[in-house]
Amino acid sequence: MDEVEEIKRRIDIVDLISSYLTLKKAGSNYKAICPFHQEKTPSFMVSAEKQIFKCFGCGEGGDIFTFTEKMENLEFPEALRLLADRAGVELKRRSFKPEEGKDRKTKLYQINDLSARVFHKILISHPAGKIALEYLKKRGISSETMKEFMIGYAPAFAKATAGKPSYLTKFLMQRGFTEEEIKNAGSPDRFFKRIIFPIRNRLGQTIAFTGRVLDPKQEPKYLNTPDTIIFHKGTVLYNLDQARGAIKQQNAVIVVEGQMDVIASHQTGVQNVVASSGTALTADHLQILYRYTPNINFAFDSDSAGLITAKKAYEMAITLGFNVKMVLLEDYKDPGEMIAANPPAGGPKLWQEAVTKAVPVIDWYFEIAFQKTENRKEKIELTSQEKKEIAKEILPIIKIIPDSIEQAHYINLLAKRLGVNEDIVFDALSKVNQQKRDKPREAVKREQLSTEQLLIAILLYRPAKITPIKEKIKEDDLKDPVLKKIYSTLLEEYNINGKIAKSLFDADRELKNLAASLIFAAENLYFDEQDKIDEDLKELIKHIASAKKEALKAHYADEIKKAEKSHNIAKLKKLIEEFQDAIS
Ligand SMILES: [Zn+2]
Repeated sequence: MDEVEEIKRRIDIVDLISSYLTLKKAGSNYKAICPFHQEKTPSFMVSAEKQIFKCFGCGEGGDIFTFTEKMENLEFPEALRLLADRAGVELKRRSFKPEEGKDRKTKLYQINDLSARVFHKILISHPAGKIALEYLKKRGISSETMKEFMIGYAPAFAKATAGKPSYLTKFLMQRGFTEEEIKNAGSPDRFFKRIIFPIRNRLGQTIAFTGRVLDPKQEPKYLNTPDTIIFHKGTVLYNLDQARGAIKQQNAVIVVEGQMDVIASHQTGVQNVVASSGTALTADHLQILYRYTPNINFAFDSDSAGLITAKKAYEMAITLGFNVKMVLLEDYKDPGEMIAANPPAGGPKLWQEAVTKAVPVIDWYFEIAFQKTENRKEKIELTSQEKKEIAKEILPIIKIIPDSIEQAHYINLLAKRLGVNEDIVFDALSKVNQQKRDKPREAVKREQLSTEQLLIAILLYRPAKITPIKEKIKEDDLKDPVLKKIYSTLLEEYNINGKIAKSLFDADRELKNLAASLIFAAENLYFDEQDKIDEDLKELIKHIASAKKEALKAHYADEIKKAEKSHNIAKLKKLIEEFQDAIS
């Protein structure tokens, strides 16, 4: 048996996908919120029977390999390797040659990986690394954690002097890499006198570095590898490779600002934590996280300077449909500081507790808006001006909540606290300018399918309907050549066996994909309304018959015109007779 088939036989697509997404049973299939586009209602379907998936929102679909490629952002050979591992299948032959581009990327990963090891070695065992090692120990970072995150140190002597390659470059060149390749990898030799945090992609490959100064006089405080072909700041989350499991398991992610916060938190056992690297959090970052969980907790510095950045991140996450909470840091600047503070005032426990007590971010917006008036000594009623100001602060946040039930909850809350009628708040809300955002695409609609597509979808979904249909609709009544082919295959197979084999379209990838999406479409349309099927079929037959008539009319009109032109009376007569026969 071919390796691919063997892997497919051993890995169940439902198992595989449920290790990434939460699947819910839907008839004989499973459905989930699609990881490949933003949506609120699930249009991502998985068929255990056919071992395929299909999303009706964005159109993604395929088998376990397609899913792994998309989900892990891999090429086929890499996905094959990953799934072979999972299935315990040994890939005996190298059935594929690394392409040029692939090979080039591999080298860049190797350069960064080797550099990370060199930096780490210097940190833990070279005298030049002592200053950094002591700093990290003082911050409570254990050697085990340093190794886990491959934290390193780039010493002063790492600085390249004019015309001469640095020690790191020399080392890498000895290992067979060219100067050009080292440059393409992001020039890891750009770092000196900095603690080095390697940034890894989701597969754990080192793709870049952040260097943090020890000497407060050195600028800038953080230095990052610029974007390269393997590193795109806006889409990489620090520690996602290690945090994935914990995020899935706890169905929540904690987003912090700094790498040290991630590391310190991880060490306390709170391991579902990530940070953006060298850039503010982007919508792309959030979209990636949404693949793992809709629950996001921010532990951002919310002093006045950090507040604008923080609010932007909160609002972006609310808009995308996350359940957004805030981990309150009390008077600490960041999680790292909170964890490093001495017990009993601080320490790991304080952080763990803060995480469990995270508050919904919208509640926090309320607190901020009402703070001024509630902290005043005398309890006096809000003036109309105050009410207006509070509403002005909170309404834009309520406006971006995509879930209407949740939105209504906060409208109600605001009305109560302002002491006004709910309708007034609704009215005010409608006047707030809606921020632009992408509407999530919804599951397939009946109108999106052509008549012929819907017909085939029903027959694939309920093959028993073939018997009444085959008398009324002939193969040639269908115009779409691919649908026609499916229809004739169905008729033939059904005639012979009285049912439809699962593997019917396996041989033809195009047919198989189309058939799969049509089955799902029918499942989607009729899941709750089985009795609609017959009703729709009747309509479809009518439609197809009248389309056939129209086509015939057009055909004869054409022919008759020709016969008239050539004054062929005999032919004209014959045509008219034929035409009347055909439409009667
Ligand atoms: Zn989708």
